Amino acid sequence: MSRCEELFAEARRYIPGGVNSPVRAFRSVGCAPVFATRGEGAYIWDADGRKYADYIGSWGPLILGHAYAPVTEAVCAAARGGASFGLPTEREVEMARLIAELVEGVELVRMVSSGTEAVLSALRVARGFTGRELIVKFEGCYHGHSDGMLVKAGSGLATAGRPDSAGVTAKTAAETISCRYNDVGEMKEIFAAHKGEIAAVIVEPVGANMGVVPPAPGFLESLRELTTAQGALLIFDEVITGFRLSLNCASGYFGVTPDLWTFGKIIGGGLPVGAYGGRRDVMSVVAPLGPVYQAGTLSGNPVAMAAGLAALKTLRGAPHIYKELAAKGERLRRGLAEIFKKCDIPACVQGIESLATIFFTEGPVRSYDDAKKSDTARYARYWKSMEKRGVLLAPSQFEALFISAAHSGEDIEYFLSCAEEAARGGE
Ligand code: PLP
Repeated sequence: MSRCEELFAEARRYIPGGVNSPVRAFRSVGCAPVFATRGEGAYIWDADGRKYADYIGSWGPLILGHAYAPVTEAVCAAARGGASFGLPTEREVEMARLIAELVEGVELVRMVSSGTEAVLSALRVARGFTGRELIVKFEGCYHGHSDGMLVKAGSGLATAGRPDSAGVTAKTAAETISCRYNDVGEMKEIFAAHKGEIAAVIVEPVGANMGVVPPAPGFLESLRELTTAQGALLIFDEVITGFRLSLNCASGYFGVTPDLWTFGKIIGGGLPVGAYGGRRDVMSVVAPLGPVYQAGTLSGNPVAMAAGLAALKTLRGAPHIYKELAAKGERLRRGLAEIFKKCDIPACVQGIESLATIFFTEGPVRSYDDAKKSDTARYARYWKSMEKRGVLLAPSQFEALFISAAHSGEDIEYFLSCAEEAARGGE
């Protein structure tokens, strides 16, 4: 038994499924999880001492790589000064100002401790502001695990959502309507059927939780027009895309301004952080200014703020990082597409900037239905070949691959050489 297997066996005695978040169980690839012991730059080491080039990147926060020195130093210094006060601190003000400066349209911002919390708070704000109850989300988009967001699309637009998870009441699920990603026609039908009832449309501006599915040209613009026309709010869930697509987030990248944003991941530099923000009039309903209650013992935690500020300031001070990330992403996607084409393997490599996914299906993948056509058994085989060669990918087809500033050009070329061996059937 390897040490990772031993730890997993022990973990299962005390933790449900042995993990604190389901995807970490590595079920889709059928092996014990990699138990991480250390990370540095683009690499991590596991409990058996194996080294991996890491493309999970903690699922998005680590755009600067593992243990990035300015972040680590900021964390240590902040912790030495007191881990939590439950009182306002200057760092929170700095963080809010920085987000508002970087993201056009964000006027007020409230810190929370996770993306889930950011989303559920933004939805409450949308309902409180509009006085409406229905929320529209897109199939295949993940917005954390609050009850209303765990809803699968019904087959028709009139079908009330039904929960994807036990423990979510039918009543709660009925307040969420699911729509196909990139399907403006279906969205129009939903708006026509629920005139004046929709509080908000929430969307990942780039779908990154069904594998990476970029928005079709005009999709985000249509959402903006439709919501504005009906007095509904548009929420961009930028927990993944925020400060990853660009320093100005997906809204700046695509030039579409929502009413509310949710953030997480990168703004915490690897510590537990989320935030939601947006238009001043909308955010003014939040307590203590207004009647929508939302609070948090550790919200704006000084250590987490220090980490996030160090990460964001690094990115702001070195915008070339985004150019380099884009070039690495482009090289990786192009290289992979060529390899699979050469080897006659049906595959569609999609992505944007530093995000990518290999779907083992003829593309393009524009929706969750398309994504589900991918040959997941082939993905598992491909994952294992890569893992054997020391390249760690998300242990599930329906996730993104994250490139960080710490990945070098050689890392990308090594990835491609491994992918080529895997595609040629090398064990
Ligand atoms: N929104 C999006 C787009 C996400 O990708 C995630 C998590 O992956 C969340 C929300 C939830 O964030 P958290 O896991 O921090 O609760």
